[in-house]
Amino acid sequence: MDECIDGWLAGWLAGWLAGWLAGWLAGWLAGWLAELAGWLVANGETLRCAETVEPLQPLNVTSRPLPEVPDEGVLLRTLYAGICRSDVHFIDDETKAGNNNGLGDSFKGAVLGHEICGIVDVIGKEVPADCPLKVGYTVIVYPWRGCRQCEACSANESHLCENTAGGATDIGRGGEHVGGYSTHVAVPEWTLLVRVREAIPPQIACLLPCCGLTAFASITKARPNLECAVRMRGRANLLVIGTGGVGTWTTLLVKCVFCDKNVNVICADVNAARLEEAAALGADDVIEWDDAADVDEIVATTTMGGYNKMDAVIDFVGTTRTQTAAFRSLHHGGAIVAVGLYGGQVALPVRSLVAKSVTLHGQRVGSVHVLRELVDLLSSQRPQKYPMVEYFGLDDINSALDKLRKGDLKGRAVLQFST
Ligand SMILES: [Zn+2]
Ligand SMILES: [Zn+2]
Repeated sequence: MDECIDGWLAGWLAGWLAGWLAGWLAGWLAGWLAELAGWLVANGETLRCAETVEPLQPLNVTSRPLPEVPDEGVLLRTLYAGICRSDVHFIDDETKAGNNNGLGDSFKGAVLGHEICGIVDVIGKEVPADCPLKVGYTVIVYPWRGCRQCEACSANESHLCENTAGGATDIGRGGEHVGGYSTHVAVPEWTLLVRVREAIPPQIACLLPCCGLTAFASITKARPNLECAVRMRGRANLLVIGTGGVGTWTTLLVKCVFCDKNVNVICADVNAARLEEAAALGADDVIEWDDAADVDEIVATTTMGGYNKMDAVIDFVGTTRTQTAAFRSLHHGGAIVAVGLYGGQVALPVRSLVAKSVTLHGQRVGSVHVLRELVDLLSSQRPQKYPMVEYFGLDDINSALDKLRKGDLKGRAVLQFST
């Protein structure tokens, strides 16, 4: 009987002890883990970012472990990140048939933002010693990295890559590479970085990799036709259709590119307020297009009845109507650069196309070389005035996106990070 009681007592004691120990251990472990998480946050070992949740839903601002520094790249601390309209399309259009993403289940958790300016924080261990970047440098990120393997990517023309699967290999476009809606960005290759110096404010520099680059590359495409017109007539006319973010940047950059030549910039828009900003940035003339007017009326207004034809048109809207008006407004030897993606068909009379020797271009962003040229241009020209910017903190990103959706922004929306 005594043996029985002893056995029962020993069993009860062992059970109680084991339970107590397990409880204590679990409590200690949980406390230690919480302390470790706090320490990691306090020591900057996590990042804060805004990630997609569901299509059409607000982004979720959250913390994540800091990523490892890419061997051949760098870890950046973000200073400023532009919020591009295409990000809103990414968030809102996932459910639409024929959208560009088609991500399905992998939509969730994407950290967008492809207009990034940051400070080099850590350099990867396999970055060559002769790399000109140093910790503390202010840089912008060329996000259009492509697949890194095809002929276009090998020739540093990765914006022409045909293997990007809707941009998933680019930075901040929904693939594995986290974008600028984050306090830190791991840039996989150091060659994607372009240093910016004091001549270009970082809050402006962040807009160069998409908005500025698209504007500059479009001007570069139209440049031979404009220079030919200057040789023939002593002056050239460039029509900019649509003066949103990229259109206003184009107005500014044309004045930087052709500072010593007689190239007039004429801006057309249906929005009078946007035309005012274009005029303030150096547009030589602005034309308010009547939304209800037919193409004949638009062409007559724009060319002053044919007395003031265009030598190049950059179309940031991209409808059948704007493309038709662009073509009919051109001098012989003119160029059309199509950038806007509104949609529609371009049906141009082949006889006129040939007879007028018109050049047709489509332009999607540009190469990393063109981005470097743009940085050099702005560094030397130092414009006194840049297009308007409205700033938001990361916690306010959803109100920035809503304002962009409603057209309530005063200029481009830019995320500002505390350093
Ligand atoms: Zn963009
Ligand atoms: Zn490629």
